[in-house]
Amino acid sequence: MNFLLKYTIGLFVMISGLNLHEANRKNLTKKPNIIFILSDDHTTNAISAYGGLYKDIAPTPNIDKIAQDGAILKNTFATNSICGPSRASILTGTYNHINGYYKNYKGGVFDNTQWTFPQELQKHGYNTALVGKWHLASEPVGFDYYKYHISRGQQGFYWDPLYNDNGIEKKETGYATNLTTNFALDWLKSRSNNEDPFCLLLQYKAPHREWSPDKKYEKLWEDKELPYPSTFDDDYKTREKTAGNTEMTMDYFCREDMKMIPPDSLNKNQKRQWLAYGFKRNEIVEIDENDSPEENKKLRFQKYIKDYLATIRSVDDNIGKVMDYLKQSDLEENTIVIYASDQGFFIGEHGWFDKRFMYEESIRMPFVIKYPGKIKPKTINEDIITNIDFAPTILEMAGVDIPESIQGKSFFNNLSKNKNKNWRQSMYYHYYEYPFYHHVQPHYGIRNERYKLIHFYYDIDVWELYDLKEDPDELNNLFYSDRHKDLTIRLKQELYELKKQYGNNLSLNEMRKISDMDFGGLESNKGKMIKENLN
Ligand code: CA
Repeated sequence: MNFLLKYTIGLFVMISGLNLHEANRKNLTKKPNIIFILSDDHTTNAISAYGGLYKDIAPTPNIDKIAQDGAILKNTFATNSICGPSRASILTGTYNHINGYYKNYKGGVFDNTQWTFPQELQKHGYNTALVGKWHLASEPVGFDYYKYHISRGQQGFYWDPLYNDNGIEKKETGYATNLTTNFALDWLKSRSNNEDPFCLLLQYKAPHREWSPDKKYEKLWEDKELPYPSTFDDDYKTREKTAGNTEMTMDYFCREDMKMIPPDSLNKNQKRQWLAYGFKRNEIVEIDENDSPEENKKLRFQKYIKDYLATIRSVDDNIGKVMDYLKQSDLEENTIVIYASDQGFFIGEHGWFDKRFMYEESIRMPFVIKYPGKIKPKTINEDIITNIDFAPTILEMAGVDIPESIQGKSFFNNLSKNKNKNWRQSMYYHYYEYPFYHHVQPHYGIRNERYKLIHFYYDIDVWELYDLKEDPDELNNLFYSDRHKDLTIRLKQELYELKKQYGNNLSLNEMRKISDMDFGGLESNKGKMIKENLN
C-alpha cells in the first residue's frame, strides 16, 4: 500500500514535471501568430493616430490602439500606387518590373508560380489563410484556406458579395466588411485546437470606390458640412500638364458614387450606363441645378467624404472585433497585428479622389504594428520604408530566413528607434497605367527625406521637383527654376542609381510599351513573357 502510494505520487510528480517542461519548451520556441490586416485605399489622413483634418470628426480608435500598443510608421510608401501592383509587391518583396504585375487595367494576371511570403510561412509550419480582397486575378497560392471577393473584377461588392470559398462560388448576405471579418474569425475558431502558429491575411474591400457605408452609418454626419482640405481648389499652376490634366477631380464623380437611384423603367444594362454617367469628360452630375458649379463641386465632395469616412468606421469597428477575439482566446500575447492599406488616397487634396500620383497623399501607406514584448508601446518610426519591405520583415519576425532574391529589407530592427542611420535614405517609385483609369501620366521618381524628383514621360516630358520641408503640399514645382540646378543634377544621379540597383533600366520607349501593352488574358506567366520580350 505504502509502496503503491509512493509510486503513484512519484509517477504523478514525474508526469507534471514533464508537462511543465514541455509547456515551457513550447512557449520558448513558439513562433508568433501573424494577423496582417490590409484595407484598400485608406489614406493616413483618415486615421486619427496620424492626425489630419478629420481626426476628431471620424476617429479610428481601434487602429489607433494598435499604434499605441506598438509602433506607428510615418513614412511607409507604395512603390506603384495602385491596388494590384502594390499587393504584388507586398506578397513578393519585389518591384513590379520583377514580379510582372504593372497595372490594374489590362494588367494580366499575377504570376502565382513565383515566391510569396505566405507560401514561405506555410513551408515553415504556419497555418495560413486569406479572407477578403485578393484582386490579383490568379488563384491564391500558399494558403490552407481562402475566401476572396470575385465579382466585379475581384473588386467585391459592398452588399451581398460573391466569394470564392476554397474554390466554390458562394453568395453571402450582408455587408462586406462585417462578413469578411466573420469569415476570418470563423477560421480562427475552427483551428483553436491547432498548435501550429498561424498567419491570417484579412483584406478589406473598404474604403474603395464606390464607398458604400453600412446602413447604420449612412447618416453619421447628415447635418454637418465637413471641412475641405487646404488644397481643395488647387489651380495646378506649375503642374498644368500633370496634376492639371487628370480625370480624378470632383467632375468625375458618377451617379453611382452619389448613390443615385436609376429609374425603374430601365433594363439592367441601361441602369448600369445610367449609374456610370459622370465617369467621362464633359459628364457632370449636378446635385442641385440651381446652384453654381462651385457649390455643386462642394456637394459632390460632401457626399464623397462622408461615405468614405463611414466605410472606415466599419473597418475600425471590425478591427476591434478581431482584437477582442484575440484577448478572449488568450492569443493576444503571442500574436503580431499589422494594419496597413495598399496605398494612400486623395480625400479632396488637390481637388481629387483616387491615388496613382507620386504625391504624398497617394504614396504614403498607413502602417501600424503591435508585437507584445518585442515592440515597445508608443514607438514612432520615421524611416523611409516601402511595400517591398513588408515580406522580409514578416519573415524575420517569424524566424524564417529571407531569400536573396527579395529586393526589400526587413525593418524589424528599425522599430526600436525613431530613425535608423544605416537604413536607405531615399525610395524609388514607378507608375505605368495610362490613360485609363483617371488619366495620370506614367512617371517614375525618387523621394528622400526632404526632396522629391519626378519624371512624367508617356507623351509629355515633364520633370517636377518639390521641397517637402518648404512645400509639404507639393504646389510649387521647382524643377525649372535655375536656383535648383545643382540639386536636380544630384537627385537625377541618385534616381538613376536606384533604377540600376533595382534592375529597372528600360528605355523610355520600353517603358511606354508597358503602358500600352494589353497584358490581359488568363495565362499566368504572360507578364513574365512580355518582360523577356522587352529585354
Ligand atoms: Ca487600392
